[in-house]
Amino acid sequence: MEKTRLKLARLHGKPEIFYSIQGEGRSVGVPSVFLRTALCNLHCFWCDTDYTWNWKGTRFKHEHDANPDYQKFDKKEWIEACLVEDVADTVASFRCTNIILTGGEPMLQQPVLLELIQKLREKSPLFTFEIETNGTMKPTPAFDEAVNQYNVSPKLENSNNPRKLREKPAALRFFSASPKANFKFVMTEKADLEEVLTMLQQYAIPPEKVWLMPEGTTASALAERRESLVEICKEHGFRYSDRLHVQIWGSKKGV
Ligand code: SF4
Repeated sequence: MEKTRLKLARLHGKPEIFYSIQGEGRSVGVPSVFLRTALCNLHCFWCDTDYTWNWKGTRFKHEHDANPDYQKFDKKEWIEACLVEDVADTVASFRCTNIILTGGEPMLQQPVLLELIQKLREKSPLFTFEIETNGTMKPTPAFDEAVNQYNVSPKLENSNNPRKLREKPAALRFFSASPKANFKFVMTEKADLEEVLTMLQQYAIPPEKVWLMPEGTTASALAERRESLVEICKEHGFRYSDRLHVQIWGSKKGV
């Protein structure tokens, strides 16, 4: 029988698995191993991991389209189908127990990620797993049981995804009620706030589960939005999140 494979993003010729620190949201600063899954069910205009979905031959728009050097990605070259055992061995070799499953959209691959989680927990029960998700897919009961934390980042109008794709009520209600979930909103301008407030009200998301984060892949872009965002957080009882990895490494990948 053919073994299950996990589709990871391929960066610099190998699957994107790296040891760094969590740069955003609730666990900011925690040393963590990151696994970047390939594929996404959304196509955000400003996505900084567009090599997981912006394939040649598709018509999705991206903010870099105006750059003459920007090209869409060849799907065959940017996906690495990995054996779960191999990925588990690589992850375990870092001697770090907090694992962040990110993407793309990792929840597109729940069954194989569950296998990976189980394999790693066989190696050590100390492993903890955070999922970075766009909040459009509900976890299966088994996946939910295995995961420690969801960092849910629902996309707003500024992402340029149609609302019916980016806002899935059943999934948002699930995460709103889950004690494992926190919400992170990427803010580009003050006007995004109205949309966030409507969503919080509609899905009964309490303010203490909400982190607002400036959009930007350079320290100066983050700095421009920081002060007004902090004021919004103070007013509404939200948490503010910076993007620590951008402050340290800019838009460099895999660090
Ligand atoms: S959901 Fe995340 S990975 Fe997918 S397109 Fe949007 S920002 Fe990129």
